[in-house]
Formats: sequence, structure tokens, C-alpha cells
Amino acid sequence: MISDQPELALDRIECAARTLGAGGLVAFPTETVYGLGADAENVGAVERVFAVKGRPTTHPLIVHLGGAHQLAEWAADVPDTAHLIAERFWPGPLTLVLRRADRVPRAVTGGLDTVALRVPNHPVALETLTAFGGGVAAPSANRFGEVSPTTARHVREGLGADVDYVLDGGPCSVGVESTIVDLTGEPAILRPGGVSREDLEHVLGRAVSVRAKSAVRVPGQFPSHYAPRARVLLVEPDRVLDNAELLVGRGRRVGVLLPPEFAGDAASCSARHVIAVPDSAAQYAQRLYEFLHDFDRHECEVIVASLPSPEGIGSAIADRLGRAAGPRDQASRDSDRFNGR
Ligand code: AMP
Ligand code: MG
Repeated sequence: MISDQPELALDRIECAARTLGAGGLVAFPTETVYGLGADAENVGAVERVFAVKGRPTTHPLIVHLGGAHQLAEWAADVPDTAHLIAERFWPGPLTLVLRRADRVPRAVTGGLDTVALRVPNHPVALETLTAFGGGVAAPSANRFGEVSPTTARHVREGLGADVDYVLDGGPCSVGVESTIVDLTGEPAILRPGGVSREDLEHVLGRAVSVRAKSAVRVPGQFPSHYAPRARVLLVEPDRVLDNAELLVGRGRRVGVLLPPEFAGDAASCSARHVIAVPDSAAQYAQRLYEFLHDFDRHECEVIVASLPSPEGIGSAIADRLGRAAGPRDQASRDSDRFNGR
């Protein structure tokens, strides 16, 4: 793996673009999480993304573009709603599912006739995409089922030498994955994320449904995903400390995500690692995965937490915490197997 060096700052975009052009894998920052990118039209490179992640090849990747003007090159029968949403939210944390254009290989879409497209809002990502010129297929730069990376350090710790080039763009500003909106029929949210349902409804001037399950079994829809190694125990906010002490008393290595209203009690809590959750939901979202990575680093076995109210970006936080707490189903067993656990 070549690492990003500050003195190479002027050339690093070019280096990343060349690596992509040569069929290599580039980890790059976006405002949501770090992506593991490959030339979307190079089937061999795309297959390597699946192999490195340990992700089943039926689970489609998002194609990242340098600008909304490329929409018509990558999607077919683009509805007016797509242009409306793209104009308002791109570059930004919103992914559109549309009918696939011919140039999109089926390796990217998991065999589907639809494609997921996004223009990320991060200068390093946009410069790389512009220098490269094509589409970059990129899932989050972590092994399948694990917590998404929000710093270059997370990427290096998680994927090591399996990435050809890591672009460091600092910590991600949004911190949770993009909102995915399916526009192949009535607009429907497939995954809550950086753009809220309320904002989408405002722009579209109509109600947008949240589809718990699509016809596609996508990773973001497994009951257990985005999971740290520790088990996550969700309780009411005023029971977080009690439950933590109970588990400490039983000899468990406990982590605590302390709701803001109890932040003053952090010092008296005897858990191994206590994190007081930020007051602002945006800041909580931005740091959520960093917190989950921290609990893993402290080798916590269980994380006691409560759900924030599911409004705005709070719904993305609640979704990810809920999945992290979810039953470790086939997805996690697969992931455990892939990751040799
Ligand atoms: P990640 O797991 O971070 O790569 O998130 C990408 C998400 O986009 C996953 O949940 C994918 O399955 C979803 N996705 C990509 N392409 C499509 C598609 N054509 N239809 C529905 N979901 C898609
Ligand atoms: Mg992911």
C-alpha cells in the first residue's frame, strides 16, 4: 500500500486517478464515510472490491460521479424527480437508485437493472473523480459487516495492505452513510442517512415512504450490520448507567454511550470506557463510528446505549445503532467467517 504523504499533496489526486485507471483500489474520503473505490467499468477491479471487503457479489455498489451532469451517462430513463433531487442535494450525502445505463457493468449492480449513483461532497473525492473522469464504484472501506471508517486511520487498520492507495482527507463531516432513495417507482427511502426524509419531502413537495425491505437484499438492510465487535445493548436513556453498573458487577468489559442529559455522571461510572454523547444530533452522527471503533479498541464486550429521537439525522443514528444491536444473523455469521472470527 502506498500511503498518502503531505509532501505529495499536489500530486496525490493524480496518483489516485492513475491508480484507478490502472485497475487499482483507492480508499478515498467522502463527507459520509471513506469509500473503497474502483473504476466502475473495470470488472476485474470491481470484483477485487468485493473480494477485499468479503462482500457477497449480489450486493450492489454505489457509483460515485464527479458531477450531476454525468447523470444521463450512467442512468437510463432519468425521471424529473431525479434532476430535482440532484440539483438540490448533489454534491451531498444522497444516493439515487435509477435504471442502469448500458455502460454500467452488472458486476457493479449485483446483476440488477438498476444502479445507485451519488456525487459526494468532499473536495478530495470530487477532485479525484474529476481527474479520473469515469465513475468510481465504492462501498465503505471496511470488511463486510464491520463498522464503516470515518478516518484514514480506520481504513488502514481495517484493510491494511489490501488497498493500493489511501487518500487522507481528514475525518468525515457527516459520519454516517448516504440516504438511499429509489426513484424507479414512487420515491422511497431504502436507507436513512445524511439527508433527512423531512428535507426530501420538502424538495419533492410530497410524502416519501421509508421502505424497510426492498426486493433486493442489501447490506444496509440486514438486521445486523454496521456492527462493532462488542454486543450493543439498547435501553431507555435513564437506565443506561444502572445497566452498565450491573454488567460491570458481573465482570463484563463494558462500554457506555451516555445520553447528553447524564453527561455529568460520566466520572462516577465504573465502566471500562464511557463516552458522553454530543448534544447535537449532527455531531453525534459525525462521531458515531469513531465511538464504535473506540469501544473495539478498548476491547469492550458490551456497549450500553439508548436511541436518540428519530428525527432528521437522528433517524440515521437510530437505524445504525439498531442494526449494531440487531440479532447477529447470517450477515454477521458470514462476516465473522470472512474475517476469520
Ligand atoms: P455500502 O454497503 O456502504 O456500500 O452501501 C451501499 C448501499 O447501496 C448498499 O445498501 C447497497 O446495496 C445499496 N445499493 C447499491 N445499488 C443499489 C441498487 N441498484 N438498488 C438498491 N440498493 C442499492
Ligand atoms: Mg458499508
